Amino acid sequence: MLKRSVRDVSLAGRCVLLRADFNVPLKDGVISDATRILASLPTIRHVLSAGAKLVLTSHLGRPAEGKFDASASLRPVAAVLTEQLGFEVGLIADPRTAEAAAAVAALPFGRALLVENVRFFAGESENNADLGAAYARLADVFVNDAFGSSHRAHASVVGAAAHIPAVAGLLVEKELAAFDSVLRQPRRPFVAILGGAKVSDKIAVIENLMERVDALIIGGGMAYTFLAAQGVGVGSSLLEKERVDFARTLLDKAAARGMKVHLPTDHVIADRFAADAQRKTVTGAIPDGWMALDIGPETAAEFAAVIHAAGTVLWNGPMGVFEMAPFAAGTRTVAHAVAECGGVTVVGGGDSAAAVNHFGLAARMTHVSTGGGASLELLEGCELPGVAALQDRG
Ligand code: AMP
Repeated sequence: MLKRSVRDVSLAGRCVLLRADFNVPLKDGVISDATRILASLPTIRHVLSAGAKLVLTSHLGRPAEGKFDASASLRPVAAVLTEQLGFEVGLIADPRTAEAAAAVAALPFGRALLVENVRFFAGESENNADLGAAYARLADVFVNDAFGSSHRAHASVVGAAAHIPAVAGLLVEKELAAFDSVLRQPRRPFVAILGGAKVSDKIAVIENLMERVDALIIGGGMAYTFLAAQGVGVGSSLLEKERVDFARTLLDKAAARGMKVHLPTDHVIADRFAADAQRKTVTGAIPDGWMALDIGPETAAEFAAVIHAAGTVLWNGPMGVFEMAPFAAGTRTVAHAVAECGGVTVVGGGDSAAAVNHFGLAARMTHVSTGGGASLELLEGCELPGVAALQDRG
């Protein structure tokens, strides 16, 4: 699963095409969180200090593919890179043009250029071969540092890797190593915490983790389908009726193996889905007309005790509607427990990473992933297309 990395190839005097994930939150040209740009700086600095020149690519937002859209321009990203790197990082409008080739040829070694949003060029999402080849023509070596895009077989991720030596960047290497170590050689007991809205999004993850973990903690909206499978009344909580059988089979399988599945026993319930809803804490069944929007304090304490004793913790999905302050306590308690755990702690991208950042605990985890969809696919046991495409042809 682990590929050659940017540390394994000689870079001096070469041009490196680096696909990064600079998909930062942007409003009216202002970046509210530059974490994703900062996450690729170690790779960028490594390439530049090795004496290479650098052409950077990334997507940003979801503009209609194939045409320029000023609101999704990477110009604000170029400004952050300029500030961080201490030299002017110019912006190439179109990688397929003679102007782009000339700008790259004129670029001194040790300096970098940024190509406009890859989604401005037709064929990106269908991995058009000509577009992939056009990217590769700009450089001698391809580096994939876009972990958060590596589950997509797009031209700038997979197509560009088909023509020149292609290796993993330091961020991709770090992400793969973190997931590889927990999935293949976990320190025991290995506890997985799953939460978030839907069981159906996580069936393949649950099935893969079942084979590996010593205990499973299930919270968030998905817990109510499992509780319904046990015959517990769930009121108007999130319930996927068509997944109740799956939940029951999984609980039976776990019991047969002696694997513990921890489900919520008390809940913070609300009379509607709103921050200012009427709310209370109940143990056991959820009354009709009420919905559970967070795990209760007793459950949070029980989950925390299991987490504290773990050798490895893998966390994907919040324990409640943590975006609303009255329903954030369960997710906060779990986040603190993971931070305090003396074992290896890996947090999947997306909402759990957002929660950990929100509570200021990211630095206390072994690893917080930068990719939501990509980390889910790794947890399902899949190889990511953007990683499979890497081949050190040098
Ligand atoms: P996911 O993308 O599947 O990880 O789901 C994350 C979303 O699940 C977050 O936006 C949470 O607000 C939501 N969520 C977590 N717990 C609940 C719950 N008990 N009821 C409704 N939504 C929930």
